[in-house]
Amino acid sequence: MINADRLWRNIETLSTFTDPANPWTRRAFTPLHQQGRRWLEEQMELAGLVVSMDGAGNLIGRRNGRKPNLHPLVTGSHTDTVNAGGRFDGILGVLAGIEVAHSLNEHELELDHPLEVIDFMSEEPSDYGISCVGSRAMAGKLDAVMLSSPDHTGETLAQGLSRIGAQPSTIASAKRANKSTAAYLELHIEQGPVLEQKDLPIGVVTHIVGGRRIAVTILGTAGHSGTTPMPLRSDALVAASLLVAGAYRQATRLNGSEHYVVATVGRLLVEPNMANAIPGKVDLVLEVRSDSNSVLDSFPEDLLSVIAADIEPLDVQISMKELTRSDVTNCSSELIQVIDAVASELGYGTMHLPSGAGHDGVYISQTGPIGMIFVPCLNGRSHCPEEWAALEAVQAGTQVLLHSLLKLDRTLSQP
Ligand SMILES: [Zn+2]
Repeated sequence: MINADRLWRNIETLSTFTDPANPWTRRAFTPLHQQGRRWLEEQMELAGLVVSMDGAGNLIGRRNGRKPNLHPLVTGSHTDTVNAGGRFDGILGVLAGIEVAHSLNEHELELDHPLEVIDFMSEEPSDYGISCVGSRAMAGKLDAVMLSSPDHTGETLAQGLSRIGAQPSTIASAKRANKSTAAYLELHIEQGPVLEQKDLPIGVVTHIVGGRRIAVTILGTAGHSGTTPMPLRSDALVAASLLVAGAYRQATRLNGSEHYVVATVGRLLVEPNMANAIPGKVDLVLEVRSDSNSVLDSFPEDLLSVIAADIEPLDVQISMKELTRSDVTNCSSELIQVIDAVASELGYGTMHLPSGAGHDGVYISQTGPIGMIFVPCLNGRSHCPEEWAALEAVQAGTQVLLHSLLKLDRTLSQP
């Protein structure tokens, strides 16, 4: 029932708003992002949506429903990209929302609920160091410290928001109350390889994983690499390597049986970092993500106790400090059921899976129940120029989005 050709053309057009020297780059707060949004605004209007921008820079296209007292059904995603990212991450969800509005118009379907299609401001980490700027503000969690954080030119996030036409002085009014969203449903590429490997067109997201980043400092003793006999060494990097390998083994062991668990050491600094010196100090960041809060709680401490016996002869000191922590976000079981039912009515195979990446839904879940529909992407690649989704995948996902919203409109408007 959706017009897949129109949607595909729109994806192609919006993706051409890119830094030509560095495809596909459309960073939030840049003139390119602004130009893309002006085009997007026209597309929203062509789909009969009334467009506004809130104090946090969220671009909102709204269609009234038959029952104005009902809270809105909300869909959307983001149109900013990471540096040298892809053509589908984010824009698919926004343009699919606009396509849903077109389809409703063309089939003269009126919803009971108002419908909002939102292009959330700066879902990717912005140059001010803050991600999910728009959805965070909707949850009332964009605070003064964040608004005053600067980019490399010294411009603050608040100043950046003013520059793009938002009014950060009205940011409090962008906040949406608990239970003010009837349902939030987002279509996104999976950004991983699971659906493609299982040859399934639709993923029904059960959780958005939570995560912890922990700064680990390992103190040994620096010394001459030629003159210090092996039994007398306190090598911080050898201890770090045991920790890195231990984290890899522990996540591999825990993952899959009951929970999704991934752990990564992606950053490591060695001192003195010289070819002829025993490493005296290592600073590293251990990141763990999971759909289980209890796994997040226990992972680092369990890891230390597992590797303790191997590390003991090295006589190093290990200290840990939590940098960030986010809890697991649950998708609503009611929305999961609706997506399952709709996909099966339309003849699409599905599986349940967690999202290992963060999304605006984490914050929008503070305003009402959320759900996410994933479609496969080529080789599971994302956040890179090779990111690709097939027309059939885009079409299937948008059909499921449309019919899920129609079903939710019926079920949620009943008292
Ligand atoms: Zn995204």
